Amino acid sequence: MTERSTSEKMLLILSAFAAIAITPFVYLRWQEGDMIMAFIDAALVIGTAGFFVFVYYTRKVNTAKLVLSCFFAIAIVTIVALRGQSHLFWLYPCMIAFFYILPAKPAGIICFIAIALITIILFPSTSAVELLTIMATLFLNASFSYVIFDNYNKTNNRLALLASIDPLTSSGNRRALDNKLEKILADQNRASSKVSLLLLDLDHFKKINDNYGHANGDIVLVELVELIQKSSRALDALYRYGGEEFILLPLKVDLQEAKQVAEKLRALVERTIFADDISVTVSIGVAQYRAGETAEAWISRADAALYVAKDNGRNRVVVEAEISAEKIR
Ligand code: GH3
Ligand code: MG
Ligand code: MG
Repeated sequence: MTERSTSEKMLLILSAFAAIAITPFVYLRWQEGDMIMAFIDAALVIGTAGFFVFVYYTRKVNTAKLVLSCFFAIAIVTIVALRGQSHLFWLYPCMIAFFYILPAKPAGIICFIAIALITIILFPSTSAVELLTIMATLFLNASFSYVIFDNYNKTNNRLALLASIDPLTSSGNRRALDNKLEKILADQNRASSKVSLLLLDLDHFKKINDNYGHANGDIVLVELVELIQKSSRALDALYRYGGEEFILLPLKVDLQEAKQVAEKLRALVERTIFADDISVTVSIGVAQYRAGETAEAWISRADAALYVAKDNGRNRVVVEAEISAEKIR
């Protein structure tokens, strides 16, 4: 099982905390003889505990977040309708939580509906000044939450992007590759299907640097990534594995089809003229995933094929099945 995401952990902690925090109120209400409130609080405890179990086992985080938010908003509005405005205070922290766990739009819609319903409910029994104060503070609370979490989400997305791309070529970096491999292997463990990877290495790249300068070498790397990204299917992603080595995956095809993809790429690079009239070629090793093996073992079989491609004169594609067992060892 893949590790739980931060948002999954936060949801589990939030729901466990909420269930524990509301439990004493069930007892207090019951002691006071307020059976309706005791019943509502008990429903909240059971709902939140059920939510915890749901997230823990199904890991359907997005559905769970929406259901939990609606559930709490309805509960608070119901309590205010039954027991008056002092119970309104619960809506403030809840609105902040909605904006934390949901995208801005659904969180905003839930808050807007809750505020509208509260206004209608309190209208007959509350003075104009009091009602205006309640509406203004609720709206301010929602607006501030929106601005703060919108900023927070944008910064987080930007940081996540920066942490996963290679700064020179904007292809995926090693961290992104490791995450992708982990996901592919987890999928394969659930239901195995054909999946192959290509390991590309630029031929004699040291000479390119020596002849044209390191800066031009950099430009070739950038242009090569653009070229491959344009020509390969959207589903496949390119990752920088090392200096001038790249991995293309997942190709949801068997070895022979993956070989055809690799051959097309090899030919494309060969006929492309890069910046400063530079021509380069690539050697490519291809390997199909074998059930049960590690990501390292999979890559090292592609690496063995790449080694043979280099050995046989470069600018060629070698498929892992074509090399003898001795060469893998
Ligand atoms: P081969 O065909 O055997 O792969 O030869 P090669 O020269 O490509 O291989 P080698 O591993 O000897 O050298 C790799 C070169 O790639 C050396 C290094 O300077 C260059 N390189 C690695 N990363 C970068 C980079 O980010 N920018 C530039 N310009 N060059 C890089
Ligand atoms: Mg090389
Ligand atoms: Mg290399």
